[in-house]
Amino acid sequence: MNILWAPWRVKFIRAKKQKGCIFCKKIKEKNDEKNYIIYRGKFCFVILNIYPYNNGHLMIVPYRHIANLEDINSNEFLELFELAKKMLKILKKTHKIEGCNIGLNLGKVSGAGIDNHIHLHLVPRWLGDTNFMPIIGKTKVISEGLNYTYKLLSKEAKKL
Ligand SMILES: [Zn+2]
Repeated sequence: MNILWAPWRVKFIRAKKQKGCIFCKKIKEKNDEKNYIIYRGKFCFVILNIYPYNNGHLMIVPYRHIANLEDINSNEFLELFELAKKMLKILKKTHKIEGCNIGLNLGKVSGAGIDNHIHLHLVPRWLGDTNFMPIIGKTKVISEGLNYTYKLLSKEAKKL
């Protein structure tokens, strides 16, 4: 088994828990560039993960503050996966991704960092991205800054 090792995430894990929901807070702020919000749809939005497992790691999130998959409505469900399709297309163009892990972590026990507001993860993958660096060096080179990723993706998302 290959493990996608992301030691910089320790900052996130150790960070003090903020009051309230981080997704709801960011979407209300109307400062999309600062908050790395790539795209606002009708029912869902797309946001970069600031503690990424890989370059271009993003999340698709319904606006409504809901925790359970069974509570999302058909509009949200449809747009969640429509946006996943569109973001994959963009990531293939901008990042030449070779694969992608797409998933939902439901509940704290599943590993959800934010367990009260459902979100779909897209983690881009390339051949060899679980290479010797993370295994031997216990560090991984995230070669691309978040601001750069944001610029690339939001430029493409504006065309949607
Ligand atoms: Zn929320």
